[in-house]
Amino acid sequence: MSRFLNQCYQSLEAYTPGEQPRDMRYIKLNTNESPYPPAPSVVEAMTREQVELLRLYSDPTARTLKEKLAKLYDVEPENVFLSNGSDEVLNFAFMAFGGKEAVFPDISYGFYEVYGGLYGIDYEKIPLKADFSVDYRDYCGKGKLVVIANPNAPTGMSIPVWQIEQIVKSNPESVVLIDEAYVDFGGQTALPLIQKYDNLLVTRTFSKSRCLAGGRLGYAFADSRLIADLEKIKFSTNPYNINRLTLRLGEATVDAEDYYREKCREIIRTRNWTAEKLQELGFQVLPSQTNFLFAGTPKMDGMALYLELKNRGILVRHFGNPRIDRFNRITIGTPEQMAAFIDTVKEVLYEKL
Ligand code: PMP
Repeated sequence: MSRFLNQCYQSLEAYTPGEQPRDMRYIKLNTNESPYPPAPSVVEAMTREQVELLRLYSDPTARTLKEKLAKLYDVEPENVFLSNGSDEVLNFAFMAFGGKEAVFPDISYGFYEVYGGLYGIDYEKIPLKADFSVDYRDYCGKGKLVVIANPNAPTGMSIPVWQIEQIVKSNPESVVLIDEAYVDFGGQTALPLIQKYDNLLVTRTFSKSRCLAGGRLGYAFADSRLIADLEKIKFSTNPYNINRLTLRLGEATVDAEDYYREKCREIIRTRNWTAEKLQELGFQVLPSQTNFLFAGTPKMDGMALYLELKNRGILVRHFGNPRIDRFNRITIGTPEQMAAFIDTVKEVLYEKL
């Protein structure tokens, strides 16, 4: 740290992203990316002409992509916000709506805490129940920025939309942010509720179900006045927040919806197969509505299993939090990758017994 850093950032703890190794070819099941490439039509959209157009700035209103998303999800373009990954819309939302206080579960996406720290927000972390589920009643009537990932990460579990509605309804004076990064893998969306409540913000991403993590494209839905607030923050920080190529890829992605739906179905099938195999091996596997599993075995410490797998060329994600140190988060890959994963887990377990 230099002596110039503003005092308010000196104790800030930055987010630690999952490993992105460059030294060895791993089966990479650690950052919830899709194992599948973007649709062929998306790859073809990346033409020489598009690259040459990079001499021009991107459209700061991102109108074409907003219109396509609005049509796909049956809302107005004024209900749509676009961001550089959904991390950016989370960042803007904490900046815009965090006020003094926020609340989120103790075990959830680590960035919530980082943004809370970044903006000096007094945040409360509510423990998940013993079975790792969210009790919606804990978030009713809080009068703070409420942030819930639904489905949650890293647990993979979700709550039904009627419970989300109770939270939104009971906090009319504060924003309720529902992070739906993983909703396409089986969760229930809160999107229709934006027509009824002006305090609901639903965030989404192209990084998981739309195979575009490296493109950095996120989006959000809300009442047009909340979206206007986010636009104000964006135009006060980085108006060209999404680069031209990514906007073009995003448009082609929305046009290839059928391809992505099929890939989600495939990932769900592979997830269910993997969960069954892990259970046969004695693992506790939390019920997942996402593209990952959260699982642990009484036979072995979570960190030890993570390291054994890594030594054998398979990367999963282990979190330091003592409440979940028995568990690892395992991204769902292709059927072949998951078969290799299961074989390797067996090898490790039998070797240790
Ligand atoms: N929300 C949750 C719950 C996540 O797990 C992630 C991915 N790490 C994000 C948001 C952010 O994803 P991205 O910035 O790639 O859209």
